[in-house]
Amino acid sequence: MGFCNSCGRPIVKEDYGTNEDGSLNPEFCKDCFQDGKYTEPDITLTEMIVRKSKEMMEKNPRLPETTATGITTTFIPGLKRWNPEFKDDYQF
Ligand SMILES: [Zn+2]
Repeated sequence: MGFCNSCGRPIVKEDYGTNEDGSLNPEFCKDCFQDGKYTEPDITLTEMIVRKSKEMMEKNPRLPETTATGITTTFIPGLKRWNPEFKDDYQF
């Protein structure tokens, strides 16, 4: 099992995003990446961290907010979508 390189959620094959040619993209979940594009191209790293912290706290009501944000602020910025090194793959 991998995880989405945009939102960080654990994903299995059924959750994979899709490339432009319709093939599966195991790097991203289908909520984040469809038909070769991000579903929300304008979302910022901060917005993603806030959203994921909230989701985590909804799923684990007893999880302290500091713990949730501690996990997301450590984990999400290192994902390929947000890590500047990922941009080396693009041609400008
Ligand atoms: Zn995702």
